[in-house]
Amino acid sequence: MTLPFPTGSDKKYVCFCCGLQYSDYEDFKVHIIDEHEEGRDFVLCPLDHCKAPVRDVKLHLKVKHPHFNLKNFKGQSRAIVWKDFSSKGKKTRKPRFKQGKYESIKTGKMLGYRSGLEEKLYKILDQHDDVASFYSEPFNIDYIHKGKAHKYTPDLIVNFIDGQKELWEVKPSNQTDLEVNKNKWYAAEQACKIRGWKFKVYTEQKIEKLAQKVRSQNID
Ligand SMILES: [Zn+2]
Ligand SMILES: [Zn+2]
Repeated sequence: MTLPFPTGSDKKYVCFCCGLQYSDYEDFKVHIIDEHEEGRDFVLCPLDHCKAPVRDVKLHLKVKHPHFNLKNFKGQSRAIVWKDFSSKGKKTRKPRFKQGKYESIKTGKMLGYRSGLEEKLYKILDQHDDVASFYSEPFNIDYIHKGKAHKYTPDLIVNFIDGQKELWEVKPSNQTDLEVNKNKWYAAEQACKIRGWKFKVYTEQKIEKLAQKVRSQNID
């Protein structure tokens, strides 16, 4: 069987957030999940075998998974940016989102954050008595996803006062089961193992637990 191939560009997957083009569907997915913010720029298909980043989940479910009962879908159905653009009369209003720089009290250094979750964690780490210093996006790690090599930049390196080092990744809990993230974190664990460090993933629940621990340290 011969498939009709489009002439000209083979870059058939266009990022709906920034316009970058990909010839490989997995590269396209990895790009969106890595470079853009869930909730603001994209939402994830809830089906485990798919987990595609999309603008509008309900539309995606209707087209790609027509047997899925839409009544079973809960959660955010559309990326905030696209929700805003489609609501009449509000087209000029830019959606608000958490992105910016934070100056660490401990090091005086600026750390970039791309989510409210990261910003919250920086503030906690500054209050954490056991933490000497922390730095954002310390280095790149090579990892393999679907047979292809990619680069991954972990969010934080945390230096403890007892000399221990940990590499931390901040991710919403609904992204921890994504195959691409599992592949990244496997590579990060190997990179830590050879250095005698620990690798940890901080979800919103773990960050809240850490916040409680730091609050109680101030009471004692
Ligand atoms: Zn993009
Ligand atoms: Zn899907």
